[in-house]
Amino acid sequence: MIKNSIIHLILLGLIVSCSGPEKVDNDKLKVVATTGMLYDAVINIGKDKIEAEAIMGPGVDPHLYKATQGDLSKFNRADVIIYNGILLEGKMTEVLEKLGRQKPVYAVAESVPENMLLPFAGYQDAYDPHVWFDVSRWSLVVREIGNSLAAVDSINTEFYSKNTNSYLNQLDSLNEFVTSRIEEIPEERRILITAHDAFGYFGEAYGIRVEGLQGISTVADFGLKDIANIIDIIISNNIKAIFVETSVSEKSINAVVTGCREKGHNVSIGGYLYSDAMGEFGTEEGTYLGMFRKNVNTIVEALK
Ligand SMILES: [Zn+2]
Repeated sequence: MIKNSIIHLILLGLIVSCSGPEKVDNDKLKVVATTGMLYDAVINIGKDKIEAEAIMGPGVDPHLYKATQGDLSKFNRADVIIYNGILLEGKMTEVLEKLGRQKPVYAVAESVPENMLLPFAGYQDAYDPHVWFDVSRWSLVVREIGNSLAAVDSINTEFYSKNTNSYLNQLDSLNEFVTSRIEEIPEERRILITAHDAFGYFGEAYGIRVEGLQGISTVADFGLKDIANIIDIIISNNIKAIFVETSVSEKSINAVVTGCREKGHNVSIGGYLYSDAMGEFGTEEGTYLGMFRKNVNTIVEALK
C-alpha cells in the first residue's frame, strides 16, 4: 500500500512537472461526488474513463453532514468535484466553495433554472435542494454532469456525451413508470406524509400533495405544533399510511402514529423511503433508478 502510494506520488510528480495540473490520457479522471445520487450519475456517464468516489453513503443525512479528514483527502486528490449545491450540503458548502478556487468544482443542481426551483418555505431567496425527486429536473442535472466531465476531460467529450444520452433515455423510461404507477392511487388518496420535506418536487411533478413533519432541512427541529398539525391532516383526510425515511430519525413519525391512535385513527407506517440517501452501493436500491422505483412501489402499495 505504502509502496503504491509512493509510486503514485512519484508518478503524480512527473505528470505535474511534464504537463502541469492538466490530466494526461493514460490517467483516469478522478471524480469525487458528494451524494449517492450524484455518484451514480457520474459512474453511468464516466464508466471506465474515470475513477469515482462518493462522500456520503447509505443512510447519511446531507443537511447535517460534516466533511471528515478522509473526505478532505478525497477532495484534495480529485481532478473534479461534483456536488448538488442549493445548500443541500449545508455544512460542507464552505469547504466546497474554497476548493472551487483551486480546481474544477461543480454545483450541478444549480444548473436547474431558477424558475423551476421550489421555494424553501420560511427562507427568503432560498430554494428546495431535493431536485432529484423529479426525474425531469434530475435529467437537467445529469446533462450538467456530462458537460462538467467533458469540460475537464475534453478528449473524451464524445464518450461522455454518448453515455449521458443513453442514461437520459433510462430516466425517460423511469419517468413513464412513475407517472403510470401513481395513477393507481385514487386521486383523493394522493397525500404523502414523511419525516422531512424531501418530496416537494416529487409531489409537484407527479400530482401528489406532500406534507413533511420537519421542513426542507433536517437542521430545523420539529415541535409539538407540527405534530398536531400533521395529525389533523391525517385524520381529516382519512390517510391510511405515512412513511419513514432511511436518513432521518423515526422518532417524529412514530410520535404522529401514536398521536393518531390516541384520537382513534389507525395510521400505519407505509414503509421506508429513500429520501436524501440511497441504499447500499452494489444493490438495486443503491442506484438512482432502483431507489426511485422502490420508493414509488412502496408509496403506491401503501396508499392505493
Ligand atoms: Zn433533505
